[in-house]
Amino acid sequence: MDSASDAHGRHKCAACFRQFNKMEHLVEHMRAARHSSHEPRCDICRKHCRSFEALRDHLGVGGSTLPKAAYCADAFAARGCTICLRVLASAAALGAHSAACRLSRIPPPMMSRALQHHQLPAATQPHGGGGEGGALALGCKMVGAGSDGSLDVCARVCVIDEQENILFEAFVKPLLPVTHYRYETTGIRPEHLRDGASTTVKNAQRRVEELLLNGEQPWKVRTSRGRARLLVGHGLDHDLDALGMDYPGYLKRDTATYPPLMKTSKLSNSLRFLTHKYLGYDIQTGHQHPFEDCVAAMRLYRRMRGQQQHPRGGGGDADAPAAATADQAFPAWRQRELERMTPEELLRLSTPDYRCWCLDA
Ligand SMILES: [Zn+2]
Ligand SMILES: [Zn+2]
Ligand SMILES: [Zn+2]
Ligand SMILES: [Zn+2]
Repeated sequence: MDSASDAHGRHKCAACFRQFNKMEHLVEHMRAARHSSHEPRCDICRKHCRSFEALRDHLGVGGSTLPKAAYCADAFAARGCTICLRVLASAAALGAHSAACRLSRIPPPMMSRALQHHQLPAATQPHGGGGEGGALALGCKMVGAGSDGSLDVCARVCVIDEQENILFEAFVKPLLPVTHYRYETTGIRPEHLRDGASTTVKNAQRRVEELLLNGEQPWKVRTSRGRARLLVGHGLDHDLDALGMDYPGYLKRDTATYPPLMKTSKLSNSLRFLTHKYLGYDIQTGHQHPFEDCVAAMRLYRRMRGQQQHPRGGGGDADAPAAATADQAFPAWRQRELERMTPEELLRLSTPDYRCWCLDA
């Protein structure tokens, strides 16, 4: 790969390969771009992309009609995995890889009622690889309240662990009268929410909180994690709102707002879209069970956490928010010095503006 400045004296960003006529413009670009070794990267040319969607476009498998990188797209078409976007050594290796990379849907459990009676207490729940600090995924299904049924209220909740075991699952009786059951998608009927068949919002909130805190005091968790669990989900704030609860931002792992999983336009993708593209199966067909959303979000989280290209260590405090700001990494008073650096040196100074999930591993 050619670096620094090319024959025409242009300066090329070591991450996204954009070229600049003046070094000061490259430094300015580096300040704004927040490139890092955590960005999704093309396996062929090593270009960094802001999101997996941008990488898909680069490889010619995205929805965009923008010109793709022809060389990379050809190599990718021959031996690239369209799910994880990795390029394998050979077409044969791709075959074996794809079989494991494409996950399949697991059917939701039969009914809520049976489970409500033998929920395990949070502290004694056995765990595999996640350890006591393993993540939990939360999913809620909403029905409609208000005069036109457009107000979302939680009618069903599910919490799973990293091994996809259900720790809590119940119908929830909303505090407001339900005006639209949204039966076609929720499968929820009035009898599901009657007393005896459902739990209260208060109870559901208490259970979810117990599982998440895992024995820690709520006030402690605001500043230090202790035994508390990471919370995975899609659009978590909406779900937490519906349960009338709160959880510290630094413990949330939201697939709707994680930059590598967002659209190039910086809007969220739907969980259905992410599951189809990055796990290889379909969810939310017919009556939707919150368990399926939990499983999809957890699988996406684990895939993102397991990304291997990121160098380990050097990140310091694993629970810290994103590292230094761009101004700290590229201070104006160092401008002259920065302009004498190579593009690679500039990239080494750059820090991401989000906390990569690989740091949880
Ligand atoms: Zn760049
Ligand atoms: Zn990373
Ligand atoms: Zn490429
Ligand atoms: Zn793959």
